[in-house]
Amino acid sequence: MVGAGYTGLWTAYYLLREDPTLRVVLLEAETAGFGASGRNGGWCSALFPAGPEVLSTLPGASREGAVSQHRAMRATVDEVLAVAAEEGIDARAHKGGTIALARTPAQWERAQREVAFARAWDRGEDDLRLLDADAARDRLAGTRVLGASFTPDCAAIHPARLVRGLARAVERRGARIHERTRVRSIKPGLAVTDHGTVRADVVVRATEAYTPSLDGMRRDLAPVYSLVVATEPLAGDVWDRIGLRDRETFTDHRHLIVYGQRSADGRLVFGGRGAPYHFGSAVRPGYDRETRVFAMLRETLVDLFPVLATARFTHAWGGAVGIPRDWVASVGLDRGSGIGWAGGYVGDGVATTNLAGRTLRDLVLRRDTELTRLPWVGHRSPRWEPEPLRWLGVNAGLRAATLADTEERLTGRPSVVARAVAPLVGGH
Ligand SMILES: Cc1cc2nc3c(=O)[nH]c(=O)nc-3n(C[C@H](O)[C@H](O)[C@H](O)COP(=O)(O)OP(=O)(O)OC[C@H]3O[C@@H](n4cnc5c(N)ncnc54)[C@H](O)[C@@H]3O)c2cc1C
Repeated sequence: MVGAGYTGLWTAYYLLREDPTLRVVLLEAETAGFGASGRNGGWCSALFPAGPEVLSTLPGASREGAVSQHRAMRATVDEVLAVAAEEGIDARAHKGGTIALARTPAQWERAQREVAFARAWDRGEDDLRLLDADAARDRLAGTRVLGASFTPDCAAIHPARLVRGLARAVERRGARIHERTRVRSIKPGLAVTDHGTVRADVVVRATEAYTPSLDGMRRDLAPVYSLVVATEPLAGDVWDRIGLRDRETFTDHRHLIVYGQRSADGRLVFGGRGAPYHFGSAVRPGYDRETRVFAMLRETLVDLFPVLATARFTHAWGGAVGIPRDWVASVGLDRGSGIGWAGGYVGDGVATTNLAGRTLRDLVLRRDTELTRLPWVGHRSPRWEPEPLRWLGVNAGLRAATLADTEERLTGRPSVVARAVAPLVGGH
């Protein structure tokens, strides 16, 4: 496994659980969990970056395939929680679902459309439903709430606890994790590092947003930054005014992605996109911190919950998500070369990596299963454009999302900007 985040670790875990005689080695450039897996927003959700209307049109795919992909994602949320419990991983997990508020008429229209769309793809009330303004405010008392959509399929987790616990579980089952071991290139049967070359029948690329740094993979995924802030633990009476009694994860229906959770220790943890894409798909520690975006996140949160105006924000961090050109996450194993991969999860990798790990297990063990027949298996996304087109396109998309939200706030109508630029970054 090249990379010891959730993808590499889940794959190692399921392989060794199935066949303890396998020799599994993880090569990790930094430390296990250093990447997005150790610093995400902690939504273990059934979200998948590509919708069923896209999945059903992939070569060889069908409507049933797209519906099965969503069912598999729903089951994966429970699978993550079950393994964490079995392996004694205290990921501070609680499955309270996700509430997505609608706070402008345009957002409310989008929420209604989303639920109608879900129904057309066989998703019932038990899967996604609308809440009216009172029911929404009862769960989450934000400002200007007109309604919400709600799904039960999400658990709030502590990301670093999950990934470190998983690394220990994988080591207990016999895998070796070599930290501070950067792989320069992946070739059939080989992972080439600065310290030597590892030979293996199968080499799995599990490097997500860092993939462009591997030889020959510069244009495979675009790393886009997501940043997070967290408050001090909030007093009980503050929580009484906000809600989230069931630790629901939360967002709203704006264009620029934002996400929040009530942590097990009573903090509000809140993240979002909005940081720029860096030329040449560069990923650097300095990019994790953008004062402007941290300030925007704090302001957004206080706008949602004015009671937080005097709360202390004690933490701020960030990391990169990996975006494929067509926004379709994929998993696969090329039999000829023995090279496997999984990634392109955009911001939905916490649960999806688990599905990838079980799928890679089946592919490596040459099993034809329900998992190996899902539409994302074997999909190859097109490569991103060369620079400077990539820089222009991705940043235009990010800027457009912000503009579209401002436009909707001012006009109260669905954004024209959003529709005009969606094809630039792939319709998400
Ligand atoms: C701020 C933030 C918030 C997010 N919030 C959510 C969320 O709430 N819900 C959700 O579902 N998803 C979320 N995501 C996305 C999710 O965290 C990722 O999709 C997921 O963790 C990807 O796991 P991974 O193992 O594929 O990649 P990573 O966790 O990034 O692991 C890749 C590993 O490979 C190592 N590596 C890189 N290059 C090399 C090399 N050359 N040689 C060896 N090792 C290498 C890295 O050091 C890293 O440890 C978020 C991401 C970020 C950044």
